[in-house]
Amino acid sequence: MYFESDASLQHVEGRTVAVIGYGIQGKAFAANLRDSGVAVIVGNRDDEYRETAVADGFDTRSIGEAAAAGSVVILLIPDDAHPEVFESHIAPNLDDGDLFVLAHGFSIRYGRITPPPTADVVLLAPKMFGKPIRQHYTEGSGVLAFVDVIQDASGHALDRTLAIAKAMGFTRYGVMPVSHATETELDLFQEQFLTPLLLDAFRMAFEVLVEAGYERIPVLLDMHASGEMAEMMVEAASTGLYEVIEQQGSPTCRFGVQRYLGKLLGEDVRARGREILEEIRNGGFVAALGKEAAAGYPSLADYTAMYRASEVTRTHDGLRAALGTA
Ligand code: NDP
Repeated sequence: MYFESDASLQHVEGRTVAVIGYGIQGKAFAANLRDSGVAVIVGNRDDEYRETAVADGFDTRSIGEAAAAGSVVILLIPDDAHPEVFESHIAPNLDDGDLFVLAHGFSIRYGRITPPPTADVVLLAPKMFGKPIRQHYTEGSGVLAFVDVIQDASGHALDRTLAIAKAMGFTRYGVMPVSHATETELDLFQEQFLTPLLLDAFRMAFEVLVEAGYERIPVLLDMHASGEMAEMMVEAASTGLYEVIEQQGSPTCRFGVQRYLGKLLGEDVRARGREILEEIRNGGFVAALGKEAAAGYPSLADYTAMYRASEVTRTHDGLRAALGTA
């Protein structure tokens, strides 16, 4: 693990960093790097995101111009757009010895882009979305990131990447070496196994209670919307999954939890987890994603229609109206 004392901003002194994309990650990267004294330019298509970057005071150019001007290029646009944007605008502008940074290993893991051998290529993957990255930084703390040197053309790729990590606030928490393949597979597994399990658990709890005649809004609040469960998971992230119940739960709560712990998810769910992981590793998921993208994401449209029509969502709309936050 790398911490503050392992990284020095000297390794990016005199270099301009091109942040490509000004969305969830791009906005946080650009702001943190600038506040750490790094010279930043933003590259974006000519649209709303670009206007926001200009309004935030950044030197903002087309993607190709920014990549040409930067000797560090950080690609922060959605992964499905990487092949086309990389081929057309980034690769022709990567000079020998430039540092090319990805925030997710996906495009390299699945061979969707092939950077030139003369550039440094690294993964610097924050394990957090953009808003908290910025918030931690301004509060003097940081978030975890994984790092992997995929190609070290200059011989200085790690030092330079750790300098970027320091400027982002990541070394305040710690930067862990993890291969880009592992980072990609873990991230996809979290999205495809853990996230649906958690969302479905909340929905099922809601449905069992509503079916039994409880009022929807108190049910939604108690199961999820008060934020109590979310706070519990935040606490658990630092103290441990079981310790939080041990430390914060009353004997009644602890007895109730231990009564059913390990008894609600069967071996069938574990088997599904293994299948999902296998699909991620053998390329089955990427092939399915490619088909979905080529057809214009029809499953995503179905999903949006399904959750908008769901009772949980309609109840949440009612809750927001009642709280005046709609
Ligand atoms: P966003 O969806 O927020 O990216 C939006 C930005 O990408 C905008 O600037 C947008 O500009 C630009 N963009 C979108 N499509 C295209 C395109 N076809 N061509 C050119 N520019 C495009 O992405 P994220 O910030 O979520 O993700 C960026 C990277 O960070 C990804 O590799 C992701 O895996 C990784 N990552 C994301 C995390 C997250 O929390 N979201 C966490 C860790 C890593 P325009 O208006 O022109 O479309």
